[in-house]
Amino acid sequence: MNHFSPAPSPPPQGWSYCSNCADGPLRWTGNCASGKSQSPIDISFTNVTYKSFSDWNWQNYGSTLSTKFTQENTGSALHVNLPDKKFFVSGGGLVGNYTTAQFHLHWGPENGQGSEHTLNGEKFAAEIHFVSYNVKYPNLTYAAAQPDGLAVLGVFIEVGSANSAYDKFLNYTAKVVNGNTTAHIAPFPLSPLFPSNTSKFYRYQGSLTTPGCFESVTWTVFHDSVKISASQVAAIRGLMMNDTDYIGLNYRPTQALNTRTVYASFDVSPGTETPTVADSTAGVKITTSLLLLMLIGALFLN
Ligand SMILES: [Zn+2]
Repeated sequence: MNHFSPAPSPPPQGWSYCSNCADGPLRWTGNCASGKSQSPIDISFTNVTYKSFSDWNWQNYGSTLSTKFTQENTGSALHVNLPDKKFFVSGGGLVGNYTTAQFHLHWGPENGQGSEHTLNGEKFAAEIHFVSYNVKYPNLTYAAAQPDGLAVLGVFIEVGSANSAYDKFLNYTAKVVNGNTTAHIAPFPLSPLFPSNTSKFYRYQGSLTTPGCFESVTWTVFHDSVKISASQVAAIRGLMMNDTDYIGLNYRPTQALNTRTVYASFDVSPGTETPTVADSTAGVKITTSLLLLMLIGALFLN
């Protein structure tokens, strides 16, 4: 930061993750402010609904392609841009076929924060998002504004043992330390970046988590997290917005669920949901049914 210039007023399209700033996430405009299906959300076991989903179908996720990837520090996140229309994902309850354009990371300054989604209120150190667009649309930008345009796969990241799969790009972050820099990196398979169990996941309809916050995303958040080491997460935290300021944190706070349903591909209830919650929900249902019966009875009596 240049200490001699006055604080710049953000441009109309400008936005940041600075919580107290005029362009921070609490003051993002447009869909970000008015939308009712925004992301991220807290995934709470008290309001997820079990649903059976079809098996995943990944195309080329396990392959090492011949085309290089492009690692990019956008000034707000670390992206890895993938070659066009090489990786595809379908199944898993997704309607249509989606081609994966890029993945990127969200993180925080310490292990207790960084993920965008939270699980029963718990924040993780980081979260990786694999962004795919519906093949019925010409490109990512166009698809991002269509209601069925995007499928994003999210994985929680914890700090623990080293993860060699993540070295395939984290080994090269030194080339993109400053904002708005790119580097070509050798291609690698995407599958090892995921948890070994991809059958347990959460599903809901939401939005991009950056402005313009388009409500075009079918979200998948996997239940199982992956681990990376302290030195690996340090490589991410070393990334800068520009030449002088660290990105620091780049996650949007959780948004209201409103009338949406969050589905789980597995039964979360055994040993996780307290009987009190289940009983009180059942109690409400009985009361509603009784009221309906009383109303019907009243109608017949008249
Ligand atoms: Zn993201």
